[in-house]
Amino acid sequence: MKHLPLFFDLAGRTVVVVGESPAADRRADLARSAGAEVSRVTAATVKIADFRGAAAAFIATGTLEGDTAAQHLAKAAGVPVNVADRPELCDFILPAIVDRDGVVVAISTGGASPTLASILRGRIEAALPERIGALAKLARTFRAQANALIPDPARRRGFWRRLVEGPAARLVLAGDEAGARRVALGELDAVRRRMSPVGIAHIVGAGPGDPDLLTLRAAQLLQEADAILHDELVPAAILGRARRDAELVLVGKRKGSVGLAQADIEAELVRRVRAGQTVVRLKAGDPFIFGRGGEEVEALRAAGLPVSVVPGVTAALGCAASVGIPLTHRRLASAVTFVSGHGADGREVTWPRLAAQSHTLAIYMGATEAASVRDRLLDAGTAPTTPVAIVENGTRPDERVSVGRLSDLARIAATHTRGDAGPSLLIVGEVAALATVADQPLLAEVS
Ligand code: SAH
Repeated sequence: MKHLPLFFDLAGRTVVVVGESPAADRRADLARSAGAEVSRVTAATVKIADFRGAAAAFIATGTLEGDTAAQHLAKAAGVPVNVADRPELCDFILPAIVDRDGVVVAISTGGASPTLASILRGRIEAALPERIGALAKLARTFRAQANALIPDPARRRGFWRRLVEGPAARLVLAGDEAGARRVALGELDAVRRRMSPVGIAHIVGAGPGDPDLLTLRAAQLLQEADAILHDELVPAAILGRARRDAELVLVGKRKGSVGLAQADIEAELVRRVRAGQTVVRLKAGDPFIFGRGGEEVEALRAAGLPVSVVPGVTAALGCAASVGIPLTHRRLASAVTFVSGHGADGREVTWPRLAAQSHTLAIYMGATEAASVRDRLLDAGTAPTTPVAIVENGTRPDERVSVGRLSDLARIAATHTRGDAGPSLLIVGEVAALATVADQPLLAEVS
């Protein structure tokens, strides 16, 4: 190690910055962000007295003579000095810095390669959760209490590990600080009473099927889960991203086949979280779009258990992007509605409201009822020539898309969904005519 990394408390101390270059400005800003009083001096006027009592000096005059002269003065005053881009003149060097609200990572290659340092910084930025600073604050607020209440060092370590890695941490990182404090208090209490703390459930959207469309948070949670309760619609490619030891449990049903009843799924979630597990309830698309995620959240809340919700790319967004259909478009559509094609998901919608012009419909669970969808839209006044697209297995390797006109929807659906069809989404509206496969427009071929 060429340099010892230290974190220097500069609050209220003077830092001298010599020079007027952009590098000097950056160093002045950096010193100020650590609470230093910055004293700016020009290369032409700098003298030894400028450095007296200073904690550190930054020099960036832009010329070798200017830098060397100022560096001599600083050294003579006994002040540690950094000269921009001249490591041979430096007492200390500046690391590449990641600063997440007080959680700070400093990276140095000992001056060998600032480019490498900045690439490493990028990787660390990507790996650190956005709200890691809030997690550090939560830990700070529990420090005195936990140290006073848990005298046994091993149990105390257990509490801290769980606080920064477990359910409370997850809630902070998801933005629920009040929930995190509640959970942390519960855990503190459980440790004191030598009971095992409860776990947490995450209701997670898996997206439409392409594993690259998982959110960063979903991917992290798949790596943390003790158990993953998933629907049949979640493909193996996504389950393959789970932690090797995670228990995979198929609970959901796909249209047509039976699975666990919703109440049984909720009971299973509650049972596992009570037993202390970190449970991921993994659903296709977004958990709050035709996913019954709302009911699962209610069940967990009613049982007084911690729960977080992680959104996912819903089928309409995934399919539309994948086949090049903009769901809204300045000339063609100024609204989009996600609607269920069969009435079973709550109260039936009023179709005339949906039939308006300049309105795109993304119809879930509608492909097998294409004739009835067509009739309801035609009755409601939608033009028979309105373009429609059917996207099956959207975003997956076996994606297929067919396009045509509303009057023809039943026929297109029948030829499209032959045999063992995958999940299919209908898109109705002028924008559906823009569907492309391998950059080729499709509608011209079928009209
Ligand atoms: N929560 C999910 C929807 C569940 S309902 C979401 O937000 O996407 C199940 C319906 O979603 C299917 O009948 C189908 O209409 C649609 N669907 C889900 N994944 C799909 C995919 N990859 N391609 C096309 N449609 C999909």
